Amino acid sequence: MPGQTPRQQLTNLIDEHWAYRIQSVGKVGCYGCTSQWLDYDGHAEHLTELIEDQAGWRPPARVIKTPENEGDYTDAIATLDALPRGAVIQFRCHVYQSIGSGWWEAIGRHRAFSTEQVVDLADGDDVTVLHTPENGDTHA
Ligand SMILES: [Zn+2]
Repeated sequence: MPGQTPRQQLTNLIDEHWAYRIQSVGKVGCYGCTSQWLDYDGHAEHLTELIEDQAGWRPPARVIKTPENEGDYTDAIATLDALPRGAVIQFRCHVYQSIGSGWWEAIGRHRAFSTEQVVDLADGDDVTVLHTPENGDTHA
């Protein structure tokens, strides 16, 4: 509904899709969609999908820990390198985008950094994953 806050939209969505249990068949029906006959877990999943798709809910941003200088970079490098090409990360007010193969472009700085250099620059600060291309969210 136009003019509603996102929170109101979410409240309405949950209100419209509440489940009613039919003991004789061991299923629940969804009041929002009369053709839906699901088991209890199935209805919870159905509601989760609606919240993600219709209400546009996004999971909290993923945070990657980095070691301070002289620490063991192995885990942080492996985690960052596992992000897909196009992923966008942020730390210390700087934003970097993966250009693949363990390289990152510093947005606004016109140069590339290796993942090891990125971990070195983060120096113990948290790296926040702002975007991944596959999901458009922060779950890589
Ligand atoms: Zn429903």
